[in-house]
Amino acid sequence: MKLKTSCDELAVMGGSPAFSDTLHVGRPNIGDRSEFLERVNGILDRRWLTNNGICVQEFERRLEALLGVKHCIAMCNATVALEITIRALGMTGEVIVPSFTFVATPHSLQWQQITPVFCDIDPETHSIDPRRVESLITPRTTGIIGVHLWGKPCKIEALAEIAGRRNLRLLFDAAHAFGCSHNGRMIGSFGDAEVFSFHATKFFNTFEGGAVATNDDDLAARIRLMKNFGFAGYDNVVYIGTNGKMSEISAAMGLTSLDHLEEIITINRRNYAAYASGLANVQGIRLVPYEGADRYNYQYVVLEVDEQAAGIHRDMLLQALHAENIMARRYFYPGCHRMEPYRSYFPNAGMLLPETERLAERVLSLPTGTAVSEEDIVDICSIIRLVLKNGVEVTNALANGKNT
Ligand SMILES: *Cc1c(COP(=O)(O)O)cnc(C)c1O
Repeated sequence: MKLKTSCDELAVMGGSPAFSDTLHVGRPNIGDRSEFLERVNGILDRRWLTNNGICVQEFERRLEALLGVKHCIAMCNATVALEITIRALGMTGEVIVPSFTFVATPHSLQWQQITPVFCDIDPETHSIDPRRVESLITPRTTGIIGVHLWGKPCKIEALAEIAGRRNLRLLFDAAHAFGCSHNGRMIGSFGDAEVFSFHATKFFNTFEGGAVATNDDDLAARIRLMKNFGFAGYDNVVYIGTNGKMSEISAAMGLTSLDHLEEIITINRRNYAAYASGLANVQGIRLVPYEGADRYNYQYVVLEVDEQAAGIHRDMLLQALHAENIMARRYFYPGCHRMEPYRSYFPNAGMLLPETERLAERVLSLPTGTAVSEEDIVDICSIIRLVLKNGVEVTNALANGKNT
């Protein structure tokens, strides 16, 4: 690609797009095709396609070893895993959750008539602010769900302290945090339980899939029954349940992805570093940092765009990038409290969520993963710089409907 140097070369100003192949956030990472197909042949030879098959069993044992937890239960996806875990923990009434998350977090509560009570976030970490949790507790509150947004552990100790003192259950939506650690311990062993997502758009995927990790024997036993209709053996249903099972083909993908976990993280880290150096010292832009001693998976490269300092609103930058076939995303716009049914249930929720509202106008997720090269990132960064340098022109062009 020829580096763009002047404003009129930008696609949004009428130039041709920088990339002919579209760059995505969350393009699936595929471990190794032949290893995967070999496992699939094994599944077909055994004619054992689901119901706690060989691959699922191996996948669960390997996850337990990797995460250092007693129990890991593979599931069909993280949303069902959250629903089942919430139910197995006996949560009812009200549960405190951030609004700045994927909508599955509150949906997994509301789906079973539990009210999500939205808590604001800490603008530094983007995660639930423990200092704001306590004032939201009522006699109906039974639990807290923290989300390790962007794979950065939320304030685990502070939440655990409140949960312990107020006798609340503590669950973590760890959908972003597979392969991450906190104080030398892998995410998966904190709170009453933690839930991972292995959806195709996550950096580690099983097509669709998820898992619950816990050190609680009784909780694990209840979850195992619940995800398999309550069957304790042939013809013996001892519990109410649903169908949350992971299939063999998903576990085969998971095993293959596990074999390549470190390579994928290394590429994500390399990409993150390329963005960090490409966007260093750009006015009005902050790259969400991954720092300290913790392990990260670097699967999200998240920008905060300060309109005043950058000279352009996040949404204009987004449109300019889309015109170049750089499909950046506004995760998690506009915040769950502005989505249905919550918007109708709690029309004034925004007043209690000033930081969430502010951040939802500023964040942008950039393309990364094994489908994005370092050279791509150099080009993306130079385009972001060029757009910002010409913020007024780009904003005016978009306002006049040019190229849209
Ligand atoms: C992806 C995601 C989920 C849902 O995961 P699925 O496996 O697609 O059901 C839940 N919470 C968060 C924060 C997510 O990003």
